[in-house]
Amino acid sequence: MEQNPPLTNGFGESEVGGFWGVELKKAGYDDIVITGKAKKPIYLWIHNEQVEIRDANKLWGKETGEVQQLLKKELNDKQVRMALIGQAGENLVRYACIMHDLRNAAGRTGMGAVMGSKNLKAVVVRGTKRPEVADNKKINEFRKIMNDVYLKNLEHFSLLGTGGDRMESFIWTGNLPIHNFRDGEFPTRNNIDPRTMRKTIGLKTEGCYACPIHCKKVVEFKEPWEVSSNYGGPEYEALGALGSNCGVDDLKAVCKANELCNGYSMDVISVGVTIGFAM
Ligand code: SF4
Repeated sequence: MEQNPPLTNGFGESEVGGFWGVELKKAGYDDIVITGKAKKPIYLWIHNEQVEIRDANKLWGKETGEVQQLLKKELNDKQVRMALIGQAGENLVRYACIMHDLRNAAGRTGMGAVMGSKNLKAVVVRGTKRPEVADNKKINEFRKIMNDVYLKNLEHFSLLGTGGDRMESFIWTGNLPIHNFRDGEFPTRNNIDPRTMRKTIGLKTEGCYACPIHCKKVVEFKEPWEVSSNYGGPEYEALGALGSNCGVDDLKAVCKANELCNGYSMDVISVGVTIGFAM
């Protein structure tokens, strides 16, 4: 039987944080339904009520970072937000993801391959309207409660991002994938712990839209490979899948692998477990 994206060959779904969804809401939309397939590479440009299908020939074959730069230039707007694919989505890699800007991935079930199968390189959005809410007072009360609760209980996430509970604790709970899930111990686990990231490569954290937690890791260094902060940094899932699951305790190598996955639009978890399985 011919296999078609998504990865399940049927229904697929994936979630993502970041800013794109909010931008879409500000443009006046709750969702978009995309049917059919374009004859040649295209991207969708949504600017409030203005919706255009545009040529993406010169974007095809390029990784997400370059595409983002070219689209911001073409649209003459640095504040556009985009959901986009790199070469993995174009080539229907079964676990291609959809990157949102460059740091947030709708990672699971091969949604990037769905975009690739439609020749859809990106959905670029700019919204300038403020969404209406039914009860401003209530929503502000709710916001305050949520902020207080989260900030009080999740301080370590703000400092260290996901994985901030210590990699060690994931071993105790049997949650850390090690050597293709064969082992229960990874003696050099602290080498890939977010505390080590903070001490050795200067981990920073940033947030998704309006979130007080700021758990999204951002790393940047030049040696032995250049890793750009544009692509964020490895979440717990990447540290586990590309790190311990493949027997890799070299933090910088994991950061580079994470950057490459985000550039190609490949799900870091699936990449890590596939390599682990092959090893
Ligand atoms: S920054 Fe906030 S919204 Fe974004 S992933 Fe972290 S906790 Fe979730």
